[in-house]
Amino acid sequence: MKEKRLFGTNGVRGVVGERMTPELVLRIGQALGAMRPGPIAVGRDTRTSGPVLVHALKSGLLASGCDVVDCGVLPTPALQFIVRDTFAAGAMVTASHNPPQYNGVKVIEHDGTEMGDREVIALERRLFDGDFALRDWMNLGTETLAPDLVGRYLDAILARFPGGIGEGMTVAVDPGSGPAALTTPALLRRMGCEVHTINGEPDGTFPGRLPEPTPDGLAPLADLVLETGAAFGVAHDGDADRAVFVDDRGRYVEENHEFALIARHVCRRRRGVIVTPVSTSQLIEDIAEETGCTVRYTPVGSIYVARTMLELIRDGVPVAFGGEGNGGLIYPDHQFCRDGGMTAATMVGLLAGEEKRLSELLDGLPPFHFISERIETGRAGEVVAAVESGFPGYSADRTDGIRISKDRTWALVRPSGTEPIVRVMVEAPDRRSAEAMRDAIRGRIAPLLD
Ligand code: MG
Repeated sequence: MKEKRLFGTNGVRGVVGERMTPELVLRIGQALGAMRPGPIAVGRDTRTSGPVLVHALKSGLLASGCDVVDCGVLPTPALQFIVRDTFAAGAMVTASHNPPQYNGVKVIEHDGTEMGDREVIALERRLFDGDFALRDWMNLGTETLAPDLVGRYLDAILARFPGGIGEGMTVAVDPGSGPAALTTPALLRRMGCEVHTINGEPDGTFPGRLPEPTPDGLAPLADLVLETGAAFGVAHDGDADRAVFVDDRGRYVEENHEFALIARHVCRRRRGVIVTPVSTSQLIEDIAEETGCTVRYTPVGSIYVARTMLELIRDGVPVAFGGEGNGGLIYPDHQFCRDGGMTAATMVGLLAGEEKRLSELLDGLPPFHFISERIETGRAGEVVAAVESGFPGYSADRTDGIRISKDRTWALVRPSGTEPIVRVMVEAPDRRSAEAMRDAIRGRIAPLLD
């Protein structure tokens, strides 16, 4: 298969005015309109460059004859929900967790999933070759503004929980000045929760924190949780397909812990396969065993998780849950993409049915230690091969790079798709074992580094 030139795993991104220009987005609109003729829904996050780029996108779509429905500012999973089975395609102007000077476009298929590799390559070919026609004055598309469509998404989430399930629960929400400012606090209030917010106004200058939720950036959310006695705090990345948490003691919840707890909650009610990338903590194996489920690993990237879930279901295999160890969780009875609003709501549902506090549930999970580092090398293929052959007695998985594992220790060595580096991840039950494994890998590949 040919390589993608423009798009990464999560759409095309770049610094506005440099790589990310109105001209580029215009061409994306023209190419998409030619490839997926039919009504197309568009939306954007809160970035200052959003209006500029969304107008360029719409111009391209309209010029190629597509009718455009502009859903305004909303989370990516909300647009994906709106698109599914209703529009020929969708396009979201967002740079997700990237800093404020970035923006980008995520293309959404008719089934609500992000566009896959093969189709993205076809889209890029049209874009670079100028393989799209300008329609004449009688055949241009029409534009409709539909900021209220987001209500469908909120209603669909609410319908999955008993009415008033959050009554008596105080929660703290940090939408990070992103589009979830317009959805998650309202959603949790409608579930009955008392909601306190921080960074709760849409603002593309991101005055409170950067779009990537980090432990440092969420310190004020942790304070708010402690001040208000909240059961938890929840924060989103810049387009709210991910949700991360602070527990009732103000501690940042490691995202693999989040995945494990929510997977346990979901899989107690729904058996089948849990789909996740090879970079996820083995905690998910423990949860699978406990709930009578199995784990299927995919390459790193939420699109591969979503597509594998759909393929399994097409083959008649029951799928229980999907997600990544970064707060991006996929609920197969809701939709096949990461959904931060659904994750916030599910935490309310989880805690409403629990005697224990979130902190107690987290402390009950088995301990693990993660090490993650990047190594510069132009010889990524040889590095992977050296690790594969260098650890006899370990089981090896070539789903994405090389993942070796034995007992409760594993390592993933994975070439980057875009830079001359390999990423190394190690997980073990404690720091010493993790460092020993990391050192063994360093020793094995040292002769290959300049
Ligand atoms: Mg995101």
